[in-house]
Amino acid sequence: MKKLFLVLFISLFSISSSAAEKVKIVTSIKPLQLVLQELLQDLADVDVLIPAGASPHHYSLKPSDMRKLAQADLIVWVGPDMEQFLSRPLTKLNRPLLQLLEGEVEQDKHHEAGREEGHEGHHHDHGDNDPHIWLDPLLMLEAATKVRDVLSQQYPELSSSLGIQYEQFAASLLATDKAISSKLAPYKDRGFVVFHDAFSLLVEHYSLNQLAYFTVDPGQAPGAKKLANIQEVIKKEKAVCVFLEPQFEAAVVKRITQGLSVKRGHLDPLAIDISQKQGYSGYLQDMAARIENCLK
Ligand SMILES: [Zn+2]
Repeated sequence: MKKLFLVLFISLFSISSSAAEKVKIVTSIKPLQLVLQELLQDLADVDVLIPAGASPHHYSLKPSDMRKLAQADLIVWVGPDMEQFLSRPLTKLNRPLLQLLEGEVEQDKHHEAGREEGHEGHHHDHGDNDPHIWLDPLLMLEAATKVRDVLSQQYPELSSSLGIQYEQFAASLLATDKAISSKLAPYKDRGFVVFHDAFSLLVEHYSLNQLAYFTVDPGQAPGAKKLANIQEVIKKEKAVCVFLEPQFEAAVVKRITQGLSVKRGHLDPLAIDISQKQGYSGYLQDMAARIENCLK
């Protein structure tokens, strides 16, 4: 009798907790939304600030964005190096906040001794201060760990569900990562050029051969000298592919690749066409397929 009651209690408890109000999370950019929704599933509603087609490098908050942020149970962003437009508003809001790039630096204490003087400390294993951290699956696994820990503290009643979902997320992400590594292994030497310098973490993680990028700032068109330079690199290094981005005009790229035997592909650093159902793993798989298609 007692046993039966216990089972009943557990199932009632799980029903009531899933019916309870979901945690409201607001993220800055879609790839983070994909990571968090895939991790948190039914535990949270994950909203995103920057609409499809806009760049986090150049965005200004609307009043509706401020309302969204003010109601968030947790705000997750990369940090001032990426979403600079958020720095000031976030200090005014006083909502629970998770800044991913800063957290990573804290974890990075073992590098402290070897760090150059005067460096801010936004330094990680990849050697530079690349804020496009969602393009490295292992950095997103770290991010997921932080989200789990922060939410477990904020909502102790969710901590066991968070733990279980984190394990599932991690297992699935690592399996995807491994599959992509072997899928892309044959193309390690095939050179390519990207539009803006967003993909370096992905390139390093999968040991790919990125030869050049057109621009650091995607809002800035590359100058004539830079274009001539890239044309030269494409010819000399026998680049196989130039990757464009859906957010930016490709006229310049078309012009300089005309007459060269180089393919054109698309890579989207903001995952615009990826559905929540595909999730972050689906986003990585989509990019891997695009890379393979253009490089083979
Ligand atoms: Zn960028």
